Formats: sequence, structure tokens, C-alpha cells
Amino acid sequence: MGDYKQAVESCIDCKKCWDVCPVTKVIGNEYTPQGKIELLSKVESGEELSEKEFDNIYLSSRCGACDDVCPVDIPIKDIIQYERNILAKQGREPDKTKYIVQNILQHNNPGGRDDSKRFDWVSDDLKLAESSEIGYMVGCWIAHARPEIARSTIRVLNAAGIEPMLMDKEKCCGLFLVDNGHFEEIKKHAREYIDYIESLGIKKLIVSCPGCYRTIKDSYPKFYREPKFEIVPAVAVFEELLDEKKIVLENKVNISAPLIDACHLKNMRDSPRNILKQIGVDTTEIFDGEVVCCGAPAGLKPNYPQTSADIAMLSVNKSKETSDLMLSYCPFCIYHISGVSENMGVDIQIKDISVLLDDAIGKSK
Ligand code: SF4
Ligand code: SF4
Repeated sequence: MGDYKQAVESCIDCKKCWDVCPVTKVIGNEYTPQGKIELLSKVESGEELSEKEFDNIYLSSRCGACDDVCPVDIPIKDIIQYERNILAKQGREPDKTKYIVQNILQHNNPGGRDDSKRFDWVSDDLKLAESSEIGYMVGCWIAHARPEIARSTIRVLNAAGIEPMLMDKEKCCGLFLVDNGHFEEIKKHAREYIDYIESLGIKKLIVSCPGCYRTIKDSYPKFYREPKFEIVPAVAVFEELLDEKKIVLENKVNISAPLIDACHLKNMRDSPRNILKQIGVDTTEIFDGEVVCCGAPAGLKPNYPQTSADIAMLSVNKSKETSDLMLSYCPFCIYHISGVSENMGVDIQIKDISVLLDDAIGKSK
């Protein structure tokens, strides 16, 4: 990994990454993206790390905000992933990270929930195909924590005449393995999952979770190969169905609300805004259009719950200035932000775009 060493040496100390990092925003300049990558040679040489240094490597949601602003294109989040890879191989990662990795490998979801309940949310009104070239991947957070998103997504697809197929042996996408440098595990995981999806004859896979989308789209080809099916985020499908007038909105709303962007779909930020506009939502921008992570992913939530909660509260407090409703298109953001705001006693609701769209379709379904 000589490239990474050279990349770290190319840092011009501009500190731009400090300003955008959600961790640095809430706990200060002792834990910066720059500081994380400067630990590379120490980690590579197996030198002892201080507690602060160790924490710095794991105090990252791998949101990529630092990469986006680095003027010399240092792949900061990849270097953090590589440092975690070395620490994991040495058995030095945090205990909760080890535990979650085991949950994914043994129970097929990060929370260790009973995987036989993955499809318990399916209700009689949903039209699903036994076999179809269009598949729908629910994702762990939706299946086990926010099933209303899956039901609404399928109702919207049904309204456009699409009856997707669910995958009996759906897997966790394995994003947590990617984020924590578990390269051998994600290689095997990607191979098994791509082969399985292809064996079902699926040509187009619709996914609600931006993390699942990014993992299958970008990480699987790196660790295994390009899938032979197309992978599309649900928001892109919704936008297309609206633009092609394949769904009719009978119950438009007239509201204004802030939208929390998903880090893994930050290159598609126009799609959710276009959908919301057609539903009748005037989207308000918080953070002047900057994408600020919810603070949950990559082990930040289990390993550093206070920091993770403080990061979530950045979005909650900003939103609360203008609204009691936040909108999102990421189930993990919704799960995390709603839990944190409830714990903090802040009265705010957070809704997924699919649910809003389902409501707006109304009777014409
Ligand atoms: S990936 Fe996000 S959380 Fe991690 S160092 Fe970069 S900006 Fe900070
Ligand atoms: S933005 Fe890039 S060049 Fe600037 S301090 Fe951070 S890592 Fe170094």
C-alpha cells in the first residue's frame, strides 16, 4: 500500500477536511480526518497506539465528506478502511465491531436479530411476484426496524403496475464489513450474494437503502466482480415513474420541510427533491446544501454513542429551527435520528420519502 503512504505525504495541511468532518464538528480538533491518516505508518508498523489514536481511527462514519474537499485528492476514507483492516487482522478492533461482524456472518444482520423474521412485514395487500426480472432488496434496517418503508415502496411500485420479487435468501449487504476493513469476509459475502441474485434471473434490483446500493454498486466489483444485473436506488425509480406519469398523485400536500441527505447517494440529491416537489413539498435546505452525515454508520453508533448522538443532533437542531418534520431517504438515518431525538426528548418526526409518496398516491392505487 505504498500509494497510501505517498498520498499521506502529499497532504498540504490545508485543514479543509477538518471543517466538514462531522466528528471534528462535535468533538473538536483532537480528532480530525488528517490526524486519522497520519497514523498510517504507525498502524502499518504495528507500533502501539495510544487510546486517543486508536479512537481516532474508529471515530469515523466513513461518510466521505473529507474526500470531497481534499484539494490533493487523498483517499481519506479508504486509508481509514485500510488502517482498520490492519487492526482487524491483528485482532485489535473494538469489541463491538467484532460483535457486529459476527452478527452479520452468523445472523445475516448487524443487530443479531432473528433472520427468520426478515419478511414478517409483508402484508396481504402487497402484490409480489413469485419470479420476476425485477427484484426488491429490503435491507436489514428496513426489514427489522422500519418495515413501513418496504410496504410503501412496494405499494408505489404496484401503483405503476410493477410487481417485484423478494429474495428468499436476501443477505445483509455487508457495508459494515467494508467500512471496517474486513476484506476477506466481504469478498466471500459479495461472491455468494451476486451469484445468488443472478441465479434468480433478476435483471434489475431495486434497493431502498442507500448503503446497500453503494455497497453492491461500488464495493462488490472491487472485492468480487461487476454484477450482471442493474442496481437502482428506490428514489431513482420513483422519480422515473413520476416523470413518465406512471403514477398519479391524488393526495398532494402543501408543506415545507427539511430533507436530510444520504451520504451514499450524495451524487443523486436532485432525485429526492424532484419527487418531493411533485408531491407538493417545498424542501428546505439545511447546512447551506452541505451533506452532513447522521453519525450512525461504520461503527460510530455502537462504539461512540455520545458522539454519534451529538452528530445526529446537528441535523435535528437545524431542522427544528423551521419544522417539526424531517424527511429522509435512508432507513439508517431515520432509525438513528428518531432514536436519538426521542432519547433527548425532542419532539420531531422523521419520515421516509416512500411513505410520503405512498400517501400522496392515495386512492388511485
Ligand atoms: S469519512 Fe466522514 S467521519 Fe470519517 S474522517 Fe472523513 S469526514 Fe470524518
Ligand atoms: S484536506 Fe487533504 S490536504 Fe488538506 S489537511 Fe485534509 S488531508 Fe491534508
